[in-house]
Amino acid sequence: MMRTHESGTLGPDDIGSSVVVCGWIASRRDHGGVLFVDVRDSSGVVQVVIDPESPGGAGAHRLRSEYVVRITGDVRARPDGTVNPALPTGSVEIAASEVEVLAESEPPPFPLDGRAADVDEGLRLKHRYLDLRRPSLQRNLRMRAKVNAALRRSMDEQRFVEVETPMLIASTPEGARDFVVPSRLHPGEFYALPQSPQLFKQLLMVGGLERYFQIARCLRDEDLRADRQFEFMQYDMEMSFAGAEDVQAVVTESVGAAVEAVTGVRPDAFSRMTWQDAMDRYGSDKPDIRFGLEIVDLGAVFASTGFNAFKAEAVRGVRVTGRADMGRNKRDALIDRAKALGAKGLVSFKLEGGALAGPGLNHLTDDEQASLISALGAVDGDLVLIVAGAPRMVSEVLGALRLDLGRPPVNEGGLHFCWIDDFPLFEGLSDDGRPIPAHHPFTMPHPDDLELLATAEGEDLLKVRSLSYDLVLNGWELGSGSVRIHTPDVQRQIFTLLGISDETASERFGFLLEAFRYGAPPHAGFAFGTDRLTALLAGEENIREVIAFPKTQSGADPLTGAPTPIDPVQLRDLGLQLKPPK
Ligand code: ASP
Repeated sequence: MMRTHESGTLGPDDIGSSVVVCGWIASRRDHGGVLFVDVRDSSGVVQVVIDPESPGGAGAHRLRSEYVVRITGDVRARPDGTVNPALPTGSVEIAASEVEVLAESEPPPFPLDGRAADVDEGLRLKHRYLDLRRPSLQRNLRMRAKVNAALRRSMDEQRFVEVETPMLIASTPEGARDFVVPSRLHPGEFYALPQSPQLFKQLLMVGGLERYFQIARCLRDEDLRADRQFEFMQYDMEMSFAGAEDVQAVVTESVGAAVEAVTGVRPDAFSRMTWQDAMDRYGSDKPDIRFGLEIVDLGAVFASTGFNAFKAEAVRGVRVTGRADMGRNKRDALIDRAKALGAKGLVSFKLEGGALAGPGLNHLTDDEQASLISALGAVDGDLVLIVAGAPRMVSEVLGALRLDLGRPPVNEGGLHFCWIDDFPLFEGLSDDGRPIPAHHPFTMPHPDDLELLATAEGEDLLKVRSLSYDLVLNGWELGSGSVRIHTPDVQRQIFTLLGISDETASERFGFLLEAFRYGAPPHAGFAFGTDRLTALLAGEENIREVIAFPKTQSGADPLTGAPTPIDPVQLRDLGLQLKPPK
């Protein structure tokens, strides 16, 4: 038997027992003859006291950080005054009778007991196997496994069938750049790695599975950010004979189960709002509803204003609670920020003694001032910020200022989930005036907007809504889904609008369109990033902190050196020839 106990589990009940523990030397302190070492294994840390003069303690002074040891000894209570309440094992220690070195370690290139943030991330990733010994990463990876297990359990309970879809496929329709893999057996041809299992899960619905799910690896060749990696894991599901609400109920249940598995409690009921509401009230399609500072429409207040700055299609404001004392520099910085975001300017007033004060006030009538105060619900001590101009810009500027001024740190303010419904079908127009799909081209238009879809042109097309929805947590977009088009005529209409010719459609998605000719059930689905959910549950800003082997911001892996050049023989076998680098 290698060990009798795990280090982090020892406590008062074990006092008097003989134990054997194994682990790494987390720290070592020499106290005039007696040596104190902390031994760390995956369960935690325990203090070991070694007398180098004793027969079993000989050679103990060669122990160094990260040596792997096997310690035999007796558990005893720590002497009065040396108890460490911050440590689960802090009331006991092991008096060692035998110390065995199982493996030596070179001095680690960075300390493992300090803050991870103090170490260069490239260095951490290069020696990720050491970095993983940190309690925070140990905790995060265990949390991640719990999230996955709970999602699987919940989907199984909800009678979903886990199906693995292939990694080597033809291109997917998510709209990002594909990673491609050259084919050796078909020289000059390529597989794409899946951006999502989208097309396969729809085929599974045609195939009669009715309830599919997968925790799927997805790959997108996009620029990396704190919340994005080339490869990421997605909880992916699809349901037949179901609409948006059925899908959302299933996802709500599984996300709730995952949160409960980690925190011990179910999250509060998920909020719900339409995309339009989210834009109007929060200036964002992923509103952080942990805090107020909601945007208020002031159109009615200034409908017939004489103040030129407020003669605009939209005038909106935000009440910043208790910030009337904001200094000049800070207010100027807000103005600069608003301008950088596209506003012509930013008007701010403070409310003191029941009256507004600030530059520009003389342009407002008494009535306007009174209505402004009541529209915003402002009270003494508040600061009000007002932006005027094109509606979308005004909301987005105020939405950004709202986040700047009020957003709590990632690990504060609880978990606030929110469903956002009825996203626009198109997110904008391309240079040649074609609408760009906001989700993917299989998203069902909103039934109330079918006529608009058939008649609208140009900018008006952007008013067409879709049956698509996002799940947002604390201002992070967790994932998206939609009701799908399952009839060939609506699909053709969308392809035509998107400028996808019959030829291109059949080249890219022909197999799906053909499948739809054989009785496609109405279906809908959803997918969300499990890395993001885990990061938020772990209180981490950066998803790399919940991924065992992530890539750096530039997409490199300092540990394995990927990406690397390949052998000329491999290139030849693949029928590839490299151009000299530019
Ligand atoms: N395939 C979509 C995505 O990855 C999600 C969905 O529509 O189910 O964003």
